[in-house]
Amino acid sequence: MESYMKEPTLGNPQNTIAVLQKYNFVFQKKFGQNFLIDTHVLDKIIRAAEIGKDDCVLEIGPGIGTMTQYLACAAKKVIAVEIDRALIPILQDTLDGYDNVKIINEDVLKVDIGKLAEEENEGKPLKVVANLPYYITTPIIMGLFENHVPLQSITVMVQKEVADRMQTGPGSKDYGALSLAVQYYAKPYIVANVPPNCFMPRPKVGSAVIRLERYKQPPVKAENEKLMFRIIRASFNQRRKTLANGLKNSAELDFTKEEVEEAIAQLGKGASVRGEALTLEDFANLSNILGNIKN
Ligand code: SAM
Repeated sequence: MESYMKEPTLGNPQNTIAVLQKYNFVFQKKFGQNFLIDTHVLDKIIRAAEIGKDDCVLEIGPGIGTMTQYLACAAKKVIAVEIDRALIPILQDTLDGYDNVKIINEDVLKVDIGKLAEEENEGKPLKVVANLPYYITTPIIMGLFENHVPLQSITVMVQKEVADRMQTGPGSKDYGALSLAVQYYAKPYIVANVPPNCFMPRPKVGSAVIRLERYKQPPVKAENEKLMFRIIRASFNQRRKTLANGLKNSAELDFTKEEVEEAIAQLGKGASVRGEALTLEDFANLSNILGNIKN
């Protein structure tokens, strides 16, 4: 039997202010609290995340429960992980009557999400949907990918500049280790740009919603993933240096000048090539060449 589900009541400035006043809520800057107050943006996120009645959603940082209400209406189940203890009684109030929501008061970086998927969704992949706290966007996203959590997609609001970095390729000033890491695990797609006036309080930067569709298999073959990511980090650590210098000088790597130069030549690149000119496929090939040199 279909259970009765309330219509969302939050998502506009008036109701958000009423909830904040009722609880005398004080915004915590250290938790990156910028609450959404635009129903069009909320609808867009839910549509882009393609949430259906079979989906179990992990929401990171529900705040006062605005997006949680929308997610609860669309999904089978929502697990909302919120770090700020002061928000828990508010969430219990705003989500009263939504019987498919589980609230967890915890730092998401400390949650074993694999175990959560096991317990809450029979080990099946979760969909992550969130208006992320911007101060920890990269550790959250990289943690989800690197820990090989069962995930279908991640649809998140992030700082506009970070969304650009995730989506871009060689030749752009935004291209770097984050672009390569995200594109190794997922296909990124910017859904919408969102201006500061859609939040309370207004952030100082522009925002964007990005959807990351997790690949079943990475698009390139790296025999040693960890080595490839060490090479990527070393290549972008010293942006103005050549790739050869970046790799030789890295504390994370242990290759001689000759080995590095030989590998770059085998890759078919000139000695003065910079890391920012290499594609993800180039980095995978380079890591395979360097890995074999040591074997
Ligand atoms: N989802 C709400 C919305 O859209 O209105 C709030 C989004 S706000 C940008 C980020 C939320 O993440 C805040 O509620 C904040 O307290 C929470 N948060 C910050 N750091 C967190 C962490 N490490 N783990 C879980 N939640 C966190």
